[in-house]
Amino acid sequence: MVMLKVDNLSVHYGMIHAVKKVSFEVKQGEIVSLIGANGAGKTTILHTLSGLVKPSEGTMTFMDEPLEKMPAAKIVKSGLIQVPEGRHIFSGLTVLENLELGAYLYPNRAESQMIMKTVFERFPVLAERKNQEASTLSGGEQQMLAMGRALMSRPKLLLLDEPSMGLAPIFIREIFSIIKEINQQGTTVLLIEQNAKMALSIADRGYVLETGKLVLEGTGENLLQSSEVQKAYLGG
Ligand code: ATP
Repeated sequence: MVMLKVDNLSVHYGMIHAVKKVSFEVKQGEIVSLIGANGAGKTTILHTLSGLVKPSEGTMTFMDEPLEKMPAAKIVKSGLIQVPEGRHIFSGLTVLENLELGAYLYPNRAESQMIMKTVFERFPVLAERKNQEASTLSGGEQQMLAMGRALMSRPKLLLLDEPSMGLAPIFIREIFSIIKEINQQGTTVLLIEQNAKMALSIADRGYVLETGKLVLEGTGENLLQSSEVQKAYLGG
């Protein structure tokens, strides 16, 4: 089943044409990676899906509902949840308080406690540090907190914006293996990354974005082996 379908999407910032007639889809259960260099338009696509930026052309359909005119809060309620680039955690609040904010869709305490338990099982380090201020976490732990907070809203489709940014290699591997596990437990994932190698190695399918246009698509494995991707993104 196609969960998200983007058709002929264009986005402008004033005179800047940041996304140019982009079409792609994400099927239920997949990890799809959108890779591309700095400024290719990846974040713009995620922000447009989340309702933070309005498209100038094209359609976006999530679970059979059009997104173009849907307000951002309703998009979140429908199950499309973004983990933003740079985490955007509330650094003065504790780990627990950050997670509770992610559960605002589930005001029922028993339900949110149950979800919190699964988040702590997934990220034991967050349970260990639940009363610590979020600012005291390492970069990798902050990324886990941002992902945990998103999971508190029970996403159907999790949008991840550069989860590896600024992390040491050991944390990068850990974050990607957690993304894979979250997916295996039933959450569909759209991942955008500059780290093409890691992003494609966990993806069922991928797309390559260059200056606002999609230039290649294929399975994660085929893209990893393609000479264009190797030359442009993998230093080979
Ligand atoms: P990065 O990895 O650096 O975040 P990206 O692939 O996510 O890159 P975008 O951030 O989507 O790329 O940017 C795409 C283009 O749109 C760039 O040329 C950028 O300068 C421009 N752009 C992004 N946000 C704005 C904005 N708010 N106003 C004007 N131009 C913008």
